[in-house]
Amino acid sequence: MEDCLFCKIAAGQIPSSKVYEDEEFLAFRDIAPKAPVHILIIPKKHLADLASCTEEDLTMLGKLNLLANKIAEAEGILNSGFRLLTNCRADSGQEVAHLHYHLIGGHFLGDFCEKQ
Ligand code: 5GP
Ligand code: ZN
Repeated sequence: MEDCLFCKIAAGQIPSSKVYEDEEFLAFRDIAPKAPVHILIIPKKHLADLASCTEEDLTMLGKLNLLANKIAEAEGILNSGFRLLTNCRADSGQEVAHLHYHLIGGHFLGDFCEKQ
């Protein structure tokens, strides 16, 4: 996707503060963190949002959840707890149309419905 910000970050065309990378995923620090730990986890494959995923993406979605645990552990927030969430389409306030999960933690997170 030529005009996709996160595809460009995944391709290394735009710099990011990487915390994890393999063939399938990239995790990097959010540019405007909402908590002491605020990391974005993306599949390198372009998918616009969760609602665009199909059964073909089941394995990727499962792996992403376990990767979140691994990154939470590396960030020292596995035991204290964290939130893993994805915004999907307009009512969620999704700003970047490339599937991404926010991994947030490092202090008590409070209201579940607050925009991340
Ligand atoms: P959304 O609202 O789409 O769920 O979240 C998009 C997130 O991407 C926001 O938290 C925003 O701060 C972050 N973001 C936007 N542009 C950039 C960027 O260029 N680099 C990084 N690291 N994060 C970005
Ligand atoms: Zn993309």
